[in-house]
Amino acid sequence: QGKNELGDVRIVDLDADSEFRFEVDFKAQVQIKLLKGTAEIFGTELATGVDYTFSGRKAAVYTWHEYTANETPMSSYLNTHLAIQQLRTLARSSNELGPRVLVIGPHDVGKTSLCKIMASYAFRQGEKPLYVSLDTAEGSITMPGAVTATAISHLIDIEEGFGSSATTAASMGSTTMPLAYYYGYESPSENVKMYNLVVSRLASTANSRLAADADSRASGIIIDTPGLIDQVGYELIWHAVQEFSVNVVVVLGHERLYSDMMKKYKDQAGITVVKLNKSGGVVERDKQFRTQLQRTKIKEYFYGTPKCELSPYSMLVNFNDINIWRVGEVIAPSSALPIGMENMDSETKLVKVDSFDMCLHSVMAILDADDSEDEGNLLNSSVVGFIYISDVNDEKKKMTILSPSPGRLPRRHVLMGAFKWMET
Ligand code: ADP
Repeated sequence: QGKNELGDVRIVDLDADSEFRFEVDFKAQVQIKLLKGTAEIFGTELATGVDYTFSGRKAAVYTWHEYTANETPMSSYLNTHLAIQQLRTLARSSNELGPRVLVIGPHDVGKTSLCKIMASYAFRQGEKPLYVSLDTAEGSITMPGAVTATAISHLIDIEEGFGSSATTAASMGSTTMPLAYYYGYESPSENVKMYNLVVSRLASTANSRLAADADSRASGIIIDTPGLIDQVGYELIWHAVQEFSVNVVVVLGHERLYSDMMKKYKDQAGITVVKLNKSGGVVERDKQFRTQLQRTKIKEYFYGTPKCELSPYSMLVNFNDINIWRVGEVIAPSSALPIGMENMDSETKLVKVDSFDMCLHSVMAILDADDSEDEGNLLNSSVVGFIYISDVNDEKKKMTILSPSPGRLPRRHVLMGAFKWMET
């Protein structure tokens, strides 16, 4: 049963292996209730008789029953999960690291949805896989601009997806806080070197967490990726495969990408490449929707969601008590420089921000680094939380920041990226 904010109620009868797809605008609200039978949204089962509320979402309610028709690719997704599940069982019996699954494909083919489905199915079988998001445009786990890893230790929320940024904010500083590294831009192609650096850092920490966690080890890793499949995109894929020791590459909805992956990996022992079809239900999201999604994520980080509201703390910080860094400009392509001079470093070299005006309305990552940390080492630091600069007062040499937790800034080194946001 679906109900919109005008109170219009619609009852939908779902055949086996079919889905009810819906799109809700950011300004609108829709409620969905399962009246009878069983159904799921991206792998998480709906409870009967409960109202689920959606806003700014595109999704599908799916039902299995005994399926006969093949109207959706869900049975191929289930089979892929079952094959991966076998690898987990095998890994568990020999006390080894479970499967490392990388999902790749162009933008808007359902990569994130497939990762959610696979993570939910794994969870429903008692697994606790590590979920990694390398998609910096989306911020599905903490904030846009971050790469993250989080253990799937509870059901993925029907309404909010992966622990919304709000629950992340609430867990700031605690051990349930997802592991995050900050890149700060939407597209990896804006600074490939820096992007790869944060991915390497994330992989290395995630790998050692997994090695130390007997519960998660055999469950392995599920990795969602940005939708780049050009030359740069390929390099990012090779890099991720290497850093996470990926052994299952799932190619979603792209024939040529699949054959290129086959070419690259067919002779490489231990790497399996799988091809899956895109679901007919996947919706393309235009630039405007993406931007709106990013804004919502940023807002939720500080103010929470209707289900879990937060009130952020506003505090005054002296210019002297905070070190704001950003990554240096790429001055010129190497080919335009005199022989022997390289500017490669500037792509991962931090510059201290001393014009505080440019910080106004920026979102920044607080780095887990000591005050005395060497600046060359700062980019190796993970993120303890995010702040928002709501006001800058040059005369008083102070700025006002918004933070989900009270008290002083937990650390003084913060990293600025390109994300700005206006409170409305
Ligand atoms: P990608 O990660 O490849 O960019 P997503 O998984 O984010 O793609 O899917 C794009 C959009 O389509 C999302 O808003 C998602 O919720 C929606 N979507 C995915 N699968 C379905 C489906 N079967 N029915 C309806 N909407 C869907």
